[in-house]
Amino acid sequence: MRGLRLTGATIVALIAMTTTTPSATADGTGGLPVQASAPASTSAPAAPRIRVTAAVTLTRSQTRSVQRRVHVRADGRVGKQTRRAIRRYQSRKHLMRTGRPNLQTLRGMKLRFAETIAARMTRKAAATAASGPGVFPIQGPWRYGGANTTFASRGGDHQGIDLFAACGTPLVAASPGTVRTRKHQSRAGHYVVITGTPSGEDEVYMHLKSRSPLSVGDRVAAGTPIGQVGDTGRATGCHLHFELWTAPGWYAGGRPHDARPTLEAWAARAGNPATSGS
Ligand SMILES: [Zn+2]
Repeated sequence: MRGLRLTGATIVALIAMTTTTPSATADGTGGLPVQASAPASTSAPAAPRIRVTAAVTLTRSQTRSVQRRVHVRADGRVGKQTRRAIRRYQSRKHLMRTGRPNLQTLRGMKLRFAETIAARMTRKAAATAASGPGVFPIQGPWRYGGANTTFASRGGDHQGIDLFAACGTPLVAASPGTVRTRKHQSRAGHYVVITGTPSGEDEVYMHLKSRSPLSVGDRVAAGTPIGQVGDTGRATGCHLHFELWTAPGWYAGGRPHDARPTLEAWAARAGNPATSGS
């Protein structure tokens, strides 16, 4: 990557994520994102793993905006000086030190176009998920709920989508990844968060009937059983509350978005469309 010659018009912004809290230990990579081809040992709280999960292109003027924030000559190119200045900025703001204007950094800089880029990446991730190895998580008949069960309903408070199915219906991981969280919470009930998926998104499964058999750090394949549909926590009727979060993930800097298009693609491929509801 170091030898890569960047054209004047564009640079590549990489989103990097870690499976644990981003920290100064990312510096062990020399500040550059590295591809984690082999999963770290799952037996212990492993050192942070950094993965390049998506790439977008910045225009020359966007690059200039970044350069102005880090106080280097704004020529629209990312050279050594710019990378060094970005690293300094990331260091100061306690961001992952990549030396690249990734989404986390663009947001840290409060640049307006960061959200445009975030939206573009979300669309790309959804497309990747739809064409990727994802499987529909409910292994049985299911249906949509009413108005209060869609994404961003309840005045924006509902961060997922509710899919209703009989209590006890098996649930599987939709995508391959690693268990980030497995807990019980008063509202979510028994829940599981899968991270490190091919799209870079975190998947959240709530209201499981009982504690998931998975443990934090477990690797899952698409289709690995994660529990059963239930109504633990604050739930009216047995359902899966499912959330998709953009990288770097669930309450780790990512944002929830509407999982419905992705779920529909998975359901269609599984030949398991909604039986009713909207
Ligand atoms: Zn819900």
